[in-house]
Formats: sequence, C-alpha cells, structure tokens
Amino acid sequence: MSKLSSIEILGGGPAGLYTAILIRKLLPNVRVRVTEQNPEGATFGFGVVFSDQALEFLRAEDPETHDLITPHMERWRNMTLNLPDGTVTLDGVGFTAIGRLELIEILKNRARALDVPIRFNTQIHSLDELDADLVIGADGLNSLVRQSMEATFKPKLEYFDNHFAWFGAEIPFDTLTQTFIETDKGPLNAHHYRFAPDRSTFIVECEDATFNAFGFANMDEDQSAELCSDLFKDVLKGTNLITNKSMWRQFPRLWCENWVAGRHVLLGDAVHTAHFSIGSGTRLALEDAIALVHALAAEKDVDAALAKYQKERPPIARKIVDAANTSADWYDTFGEKLGLAPLDFAHDYLMRSGRMTEERLQKIAPEFAAQYQKSRAVVG
Ligand SMILES: Cc1cc2nc3c(=O)[nH]c(=O)nc-3n(C[C@H](O)[C@H](O)[C@H](O)COP(=O)(O)OP(=O)(O)OC[C@H]3O[C@@H](n4cnc5c(N)ncnc54)[C@H](O)[C@@H]3O)c2cc1C
Repeated sequence: MSKLSSIEILGGGPAGLYTAILIRKLLPNVRVRVTEQNPEGATFGFGVVFSDQALEFLRAEDPETHDLITPHMERWRNMTLNLPDGTVTLDGVGFTAIGRLELIEILKNRARALDVPIRFNTQIHSLDELDADLVIGADGLNSLVRQSMEATFKPKLEYFDNHFAWFGAEIPFDTLTQTFIETDKGPLNAHHYRFAPDRSTFIVECEDATFNAFGFANMDEDQSAELCSDLFKDVLKGTNLITNKSMWRQFPRLWCENWVAGRHVLLGDAVHTAHFSIGSGTRLALEDAIALVHALAAEKDVDAALAKYQKERPPIARKIVDAANTSADWYDTFGEKLGLAPLDFAHDYLMRSGRMTEERLQKIAPEFAAQYQKSRAVVG
C-alpha cells in the first residue's frame, strides 16, 4: 500500500488553487505546493459566468470559500437576445458572474491563509522538475502534464469552426445578453454581461467566412477591438472595447480518455473543455477538484484513490461537456438561423444544448414559453 506525503500542483488557475485548498482541509498532513508561470495578479480574459445554482456545490464543500466569493458576484434573473428584428427576454434564465482575476485572487488568498506555498513566475518545462508522490496537472488547455504523457492520457483535441475574441467593456449590461448583428460582410454575435458594477465581458464570435471577409487574421488586438467596438456601437453605447490577451481563437474541443497516468493526474481544462456558451468550464474544474481530493481522502492507497477518480468523475463531467459541445455546434451556424422570427430564433437558441424540453422550458421561462406558444398558435 502506498501512502501520500507530498503533492505538486502545476497551474494556479481555478482548478489548481481550489485543489490545494481542499487538500489542506481534507488531507492536512500532506505537503502541497502550487506552481504558476504567470506573475501574481495576472491572468487572461475578463469575467466568467456560473448558472444561478452553480455556487451551491461550493457552499456544501467549503463554506468559507463560498462566502468569500459570493459578495463579489453580479446576478440577474433574465437573459436578453438582441436580434436584427427585435429583442426577446428569456425570463428565469438566471446567471451569476465574477471577474476571472477576482476569483483567482480570492482562491489564492484562501490557499495562502491555509499555508499553501504558491510559486508564481515559475514556468515548468519538464515533469522532472516536479518531484512528489503525486503530480496534479491543473495546467489548462496547453497542459505540459498531458502533453508529456499523451500515450496514456489519450487526448482528442479538435477545434470548432467559429472564431472568437474575448474582450472587455467598460459599461455594465442589465442582463446576460446575446447580441446578433448582420453586416455586409456577414453576421456576428456578441456574448456580453457585467461581472462587476462597471465592467463586462464582451466575447465577439463569427463564422469563418465573416472572419475572413473582415480580415481579422491580419489585425492586432487593438485593431480588432476598434473594429468590433464600431460594429457593436449600439449596445456599447459608443464606448470602446478593452483587451487582455484578446487574440482571435477557435474554441478547442478537448477530451482525454484517461485522466490518470501513474502518479500524474489531470483536471480542469487540462483534461476537457466546455464551450463558454453554457458557462461551465470553471465549474467543471472546481468539481473535478472536489472529486479528486475526496477520492484521495477516502482511500488510504493512492493508486486506489486515483482509480476511484478515474472511474467516477469522467462520466459526470462528460454530460456537461456533451451539452457544451452541442451548444457550440449551434453557434457554428447561427447565421443561418437569423432569418427566423425573433421568438422562433429564441426558442431554437434555448433548445440548443439538447438538455431543454418544452416542459422544462415552461417551468424555467414561463413568460417566454407562453409568448412562444401564442405565436405558434397564430401561425398554426
Ligand atoms: C472566451 C472564454 C470564456 C469563458 N467563459 C467562461 C464562463 O463564462 N464560465 C466558466 O465557467 N468558464 C468559462 N470559460 C472557461 C474557463 O476559463 C476554464 O474552464 C477555466 O479557466 C479552467 O480552469 P483551469 O484552472 O483548469 O485552467 P486555467 O484557468 O487555464 O489555469 C491553468 C493555469 O496553469 C498555468 N500553467 C500552464 N502551464 C504551466 C506551466 N508549464 N508552468 C507553470 N504554470 C503553468 C497557466 O498559466 C494557468 O494559470 C471561458 C473560456 C473562454 C476561452
């Protein structure tokens, strides 16, 4: 039987920091350290959303961390679709949001309060640099841990067709809003919501043909931001988009067949991705951490604990990842749907992940469901 006395965590994003916090709580005698390549206080992106129930799992797991995070969250009950032919309100489709940096800072401070050493500004180039009984790869999409042991982890990595850029806006929006516009070079979508009283995430997305027609590939971040500010000037009220590593990208579709390779284990974006349109990547990363640390606490033998994590966690994560992939597929062809009447478009949008039924829709968004049924009756 092999016992655990030291753990190295690679990556100081949400997955790595939350794992360290839980290790301190559930395995107080195990030495743990986090290594992060970025300087302290730096990260990519702007805010992230959670569904309005999403933080309940954090409350159950670690009420202290939950209580530190929730006062910093923005919340809203409805969602708005701005379409070329009108606006539709989706009542009851609630979300909460927080700045990515703010979330990381809260988790970092909580980890430090629990005496977790965190090395910033330290990029690891080889797994030989991490010497411990267990190495946890919380090192995101370009995971060194995964790439060093691909033959065992068996990753499948593809990319969706659409292009997106993650900007910020210096104005708040009332609700999570999807704005769809038509231009002479093709349709574009913006996915925007406030994550602080005066600041919003503003993700611009478009199909490949539109991306090429605008020549975004030949623009730098500032030029893209300037053009997108102009294209979306109505919702932005004439303000300028801001950047933070806002290069155009295609969203990855990653899934690993195995999450464990000997004494190396993956979690979060290192092992799977979930398209931002269902707002679940961070939540999945935190839930992976919970599953892993509970498995380590439940089993005296490390290999048995890792086998438990491998057996129990992927099937649960897979359901959310499938829903995210289906949702992302919908976005890959959103331009074709812009010819629909606004209520039909909105209905199609709500059904996109394959997890919504008419019955659920009536419960979640009764006002929208009634409006939609009425419009169908008129057409019928
Ligand atoms: C446009 C966009 C919008 C999104 N919106 C949402 C949203 O609304 N809601 C949501 O829940 N999720 C969202 N996500 C997904 C979310 O950002 C990720 O799922 C989440 O960050 C995963 O956390 P992680 O800790 O696994 O990985 P990361 O946050 O990527 O952290 C990995 C860390 O490891 C570090 N690292 C990597 N390699 C090394 C190395 N060799 N040495 C040292 N350090 C290293 C990196 O610097 C990084 O800090 C969005 C993603 C994108 C791209």
